[in-house]
Amino acid sequence: MTTEQTAAAVQADRDYLLQTYVKPDFVIEHGEGVYLFDTTGRRYLDFVSGIAVNALGYGDPEVTAVIAEQAAKLIHVSNLYLTAPAGELARMLVQSSPAFDRVFFANSGAEAVEGTLKFARRYARDRVGEGKTAIVAFDGSFHGRTMGALAVTAREKYREPFMPVMPGVRFARFNDLASLEAAMGADVCAIILEPVQGEGGLRVADTRFLQGARALCDRHAALLILDEIQCGMGRTGTLWAHEPSGVRPDMLTVAKPLAGGLPIGAVLMSQAVADTIHVGDHGTTFGGNPLVTAVAGVVFRRISDPAFLAHVRSVSSYLDEALHDLAAEFPTTVLELRGRGLMRGLRLAGPASAAREAAQERGLLVATAGEDVLRLLPPLIIEPHHVDESLAVLRQVLK
Ligand SMILES: *Cc1c(COP(=O)(O)O)cnc(C)c1O
Repeated sequence: MTTEQTAAAVQADRDYLLQTYVKPDFVIEHGEGVYLFDTTGRRYLDFVSGIAVNALGYGDPEVTAVIAEQAAKLIHVSNLYLTAPAGELARMLVQSSPAFDRVFFANSGAEAVEGTLKFARRYARDRVGEGKTAIVAFDGSFHGRTMGALAVTAREKYREPFMPVMPGVRFARFNDLASLEAAMGADVCAIILEPVQGEGGLRVADTRFLQGARALCDRHAALLILDEIQCGMGRTGTLWAHEPSGVRPDMLTVAKPLAGGLPIGAVLMSQAVADTIHVGDHGTTFGGNPLVTAVAGVVFRRISDPAFLAHVRSVSSYLDEALHDLAAEFPTTVLELRGRGLMRGLRLAGPASAAREAAQERGLLVATAGEDVLRLLPPLIIEPHHVDESLAVLRQVLK
């Protein structure tokens, strides 16, 4: 792209797009592996991955091939008709864990979360009766921007301007079982919880807390919904982030990385939940279309491969050591390390956005989570030398 074309692209964004995001003024043109390139040919090491979406990086030959092949064959027919890729993907998702028997496909994380809230209310009404409609969520949670998902999202700044959102939500303190117990009651139909909080600052749910939430759900005939839209699909070194806890959720939401960058959302659920949802209860036009689910089939097969997950764990421990060295080197700037696997947070003494911009100027893209947490979400295909490259930049930025 010429300088004029680049300037025109920046201007078109500024003039015509609803300005709901602050974007830097370079224009990204293509990606290769774990790198992005702007229109001037400048290279960026990408530790954002489109917010945990591009798990296989950019230009993966198998992903681009299945897109071309399936697009030429069939893109969409709606859920009024049966096509093969959705069933094949659902089979793989169900077989990934004994907790799941059925899948509902949507188009985004928020739409998957909306589905779980409706299914939880439907289940409670069927099994217990009317009035069991309350949902318990947590401080620091993020579940999406639609009215239901927003209602279970903690951040006042996101919710307040749009009140009233869906009523019936109570917030408990994350990793605090006493607070959760106090929020529970006979009117609660579900608890919704991220095993590792994303936007909320990379806090990891303790095993004891997850197990306690499961026990409280059982005691109050409520469903446990785990939101793994950001932390699921290999990001923490196991296929599902809740796996090490041994806890069995009633529903699990998956989205961001599932279709290699194409929009998708999914609700995985037990047969007991599925039994209460009937024809016509819920629906979506695009959800699970053959293009998206064919691509997701390839992505899921690749990521769920034990050798791939072993790679994630090994590069994760390399990153973990490097981050501990960094924190030891800059004890007054890096106050705390958070997260797990390839989903890490550095709580800084100053504003995280300043560190993010300084890293970007040096060719490293990183995200933030709240005011003071720098968030690292590299593609799952990174190698130790990419970790070294990112740490060299962070060292310059933090000193
Ligand atoms: C991103 C995210 C969502 C919302 O997904 P969208 O696709 O943006 O609607 C929900 N939950 C978690 C944990 C997320 O990270």
